[in-house]
Amino acid sequence: MTYCFAPPPIPSLPISGSDQRFPVRRIFCIGRNYAEHAREMGAQVDSGTPLFFCKPADAVVSDGTDVPYPSSTDELHHEVEMVVALAGGGSNIAAERATALIFGYGVGLDLTRRDLQRQAKAKGQPWDTAKGFDHSAPLSALRPAAEARVDGQTVLRLSVNGEPRQHATLGEMMHDVPHIIASLSTLFELQAGDLIFTGTPAGVAALQRGDQLHAELVGVATLDTRIG
Ligand code: MN
Repeated sequence: MTYCFAPPPIPSLPISGSDQRFPVRRIFCIGRNYAEHAREMGAQVDSGTPLFFCKPADAVVSDGTDVPYPSSTDELHHEVEMVVALAGGGSNIAAERATALIFGYGVGLDLTRRDLQRQAKAKGQPWDTAKGFDHSAPLSALRPAAEARVDGQTVLRLSVNGEPRQHATLGEMMHDVPHIIASLSTLFELQAGDLIFTGTPAGVAALQRGDQLHAELVGVATLDTRIG
């Protein structure tokens, strides 16, 4: 069997302390997982069924790389998030079994064309063009779970041009990681290589060309990028 043209490269992320890379299969995201952010977006704070959406795997941008300002928006927003990387998967995973499937943790940006998202919400349309655009998922190197101390006290934060913009502890998430994995696995069969963006705290705002972003999952991972 031969392909009619060369297949695209597999998107991947560096792993802290290793020469190996993590191959990215899919990127899942949860929306409205921090109550204060749901409120700032004018949404109902709903701790019931999680809201999920996806980004394409090739939307990843490695640490230290510029993000081009995307087309068709005047309102590019930052959303700093903890990202969970899976080493295994399955369907209908029990929350008690979910933590064992985690490869490691990182910090990422769920970049959003907020103007297009607002229009989509108003018309009841999907979010793909608002969330799933090229270069919309800048990500740190991944820290293997065995080396990462991640709990409810772990701090997630973002500064832009040295000014603090977003800050929270992971304990503020409405759906914790085991329950996100369990819920997602009722909708999709998860597999090794999947990434899950776990939601953003309050403080999202617009980015300008030239902005320097520094995101941190304190003690675990850092991400530096610039809007080109
Ligand atoms: Mn988000």
